[in-house]
Amino acid sequence: MVSVTSMAVIIDGKDVSQKVRSEIKDKVLLLKNERGITPGLAVILVGDDPASQIYVRGKKNACLEAGFLSREFKLSSETKEEELHDLIKELNEDEAIHGILVQLPLPKHLNADVFVEAIDPRKDVDGFHPYNVGKLFSGTSYHMSCTPLGIIELLDRYRIGIEGKEAVIVGRSNIVGKPLAMMLLARHATVTICHTRTKDLAEVTRRADILVAAAGRPEMIRGDMVKEGAVVIDVGINRSETGKLLGDVAFSEVAPKASHITPVPGGVGPMTIAMLLSNTLNGASRNL
Ligand code: NAP
Repeated sequence: MVSVTSMAVIIDGKDVSQKVRSEIKDKVLLLKNERGITPGLAVILVGDDPASQIYVRGKKNACLEAGFLSREFKLSSETKEEELHDLIKELNEDEAIHGILVQLPLPKHLNADVFVEAIDPRKDVDGFHPYNVGKLFSGTSYHMSCTPLGIIELLDRYRIGIEGKEAVIVGRSNIVGKPLAMMLLARHATVTICHTRTKDLAEVTRRADILVAAAGRPEMIRGDMVKEGAVVIDVGINRSETGKLLGDVAFSEVAPKASHITPVPGGVGPMTIAMLLSNTLNGASRNL
């Protein structure tokens, strides 16, 4: 699991994600045998966005591999608000379904916030419902956003302490930066969130014991922005002009200074689906 280079320890998200998924598979078997419950995830895809289709396929395969019930609803891009509402309502009431996910983005005529709010918070396995977001601030929500949850899992699996550390997050989105800040705070880090109006970004990032880059800007975190020995987590997924996948961190400059670093691909990315499965399993275990 741990590969040590002359530089930092490379945090292997693919490996951790496989381990988490195999643990989930074992727990699903137990849940089925002992309580007769099979975790069920419903994924709703509206329209024919190619990237969304790939994500949905990935989620379906992950569900099947873990022994979940997987239901996929493919709706046309012309779907009316009412139809989507009716489907969510039906799934909210369906006892075989413990997680409901509306694949974003939705076509322009459908307001994503409205539909996320229509999901029963106990089945909101993406952790996007305002109830779950609000509860995260007080420390206890049904479900927490999968990508930040995956980052915490990576830190824990590599036994990287969080308590008392200076954590700096570059990016304040609702799906990564903000929820991650709350999770790190709950684990007693001192947290700073940076964004496009942050003055002297490098001065702030250089203070970080744990630096998380979630800005969606290819290789914006350079070597001179990182403290010697920092743990660097790269959430960014960007495509170069040649189609190469790039993170938000200039890996070759930063890795020699960091103690630990996540690669792109194979770092944070694979953890998101693992956490989605984990949230769904937790929902099923609570036997809604
Ligand atoms: P987003 O909604 O676009 O938010 C980006 C954030 O970064 C904003 O808060 C923005 O600041 C900040 N930012 C942008 N450029 C900056 C700069 N030069 N200096 C400082 N701050 C800057 O992005 P997101 O949805 O959080 O995603 C971020 C990245 O993570 C993307 O590459 C995305 O593809 C990736 N991602 C990966 C996963 C995964 O691995 N599973 C999941 C989600 C996202 P302002 O608020 O001031 O505009």
